[in-house]
Amino acid sequence: MTTVECILPRTILGEGPHWDHTEQALYFVDIKASEVHRYTPATKKETVVKIEGGPVSIVIPVQGQKNKYVITIGRDIAIMTWDGVSSSPSHVERVATVDEVDGKRENRLNDGKADPTGRLWAGTLGAEHGPVDFTPHNGSLFSLSKDRKVTSHVTGVTCSNGLAWSLDNKIMYYIDSLTLKVEAFDFNAEKGQAINRRTAFDFKANGVKGFPDGMTIDTQGNLWVACFDGSQVINVDPRTGKLLKTISIPSPKVTSVVFGGKNLDELYVTSASVDLNKEELAATPSAGCTFRILGTGAKGFPGQSVVL
Ligand code: ZN
Repeated sequence: MTTVECILPRTILGEGPHWDHTEQALYFVDIKASEVHRYTPATKKETVVKIEGGPVSIVIPVQGQKNKYVITIGRDIAIMTWDGVSSSPSHVERVATVDEVDGKRENRLNDGKADPTGRLWAGTLGAEHGPVDFTPHNGSLFSLSKDRKVTSHVTGVTCSNGLAWSLDNKIMYYIDSLTLKVEAFDFNAEKGQAINRRTAFDFKANGVKGFPDGMTIDTQGNLWVACFDGSQVINVDPRTGKLLKTISIPSPKVTSVVFGGKNLDELYVTSASVDLNKEELAATPSAGCTFRILGTGAKGFPGQSVVL
């Protein structure tokens, strides 16, 4: 049986869950609050660090460097030093800036993830004019190499979101939410190249409600995709383009998913309460909460840290 449990209270825009398997801890951000959250399921303890000058859209540990995390601040990629407890970081070092050109300075970084070699990938979205209303085709998907050089891979992106890599590392899956698709690229892990863009799963063709947002891959090579404005997480096979399963979430704006827990068989789900009015918030008390789904029958992989 599949169960969905609300484990943490309302965020404004909860996003970017990362499971640290060594620490058995869940990290995620509240973009609009410019906060990084750390939650340990075993103790049910949550700590929050506020990032000045945000918004912050990702938090990923730096490999082999205790208390160091890659975060974003607006259009900057930064390394934060944080003890995991304090309400402010002890140090923030900005290492790169993206979209530093006229017409793109109102962009901000959004979802990001480390590929299986530890290379960071993160994309931008255009200026926000209203709910799911961004300056179209103004963002890009970037990677950051170990020598801290930024490379642009995909341009004309409206709202850069989920990333995942196939089990053999030969395909990168990517979501630009406004396309209503999960797309696939041939991926060269060594060179950090993504080419030959095509559709892997089509929301419209499958009658799926909402915008594709964050996603993760399971050990069978199937994707779990958060549906923003869709109140659900879907499970799809990106090789066949088929919808395998849907799981209802009692929060309309489901933002992202990651497997965690001792056996990596618990699906952690972030969501948002942003742009809901008073009546909607009252009618959906768990809007914006963070959830844990048990009994999906699937397992994921330990979170990949960034090599820098
Ligand atoms: Zn997202």
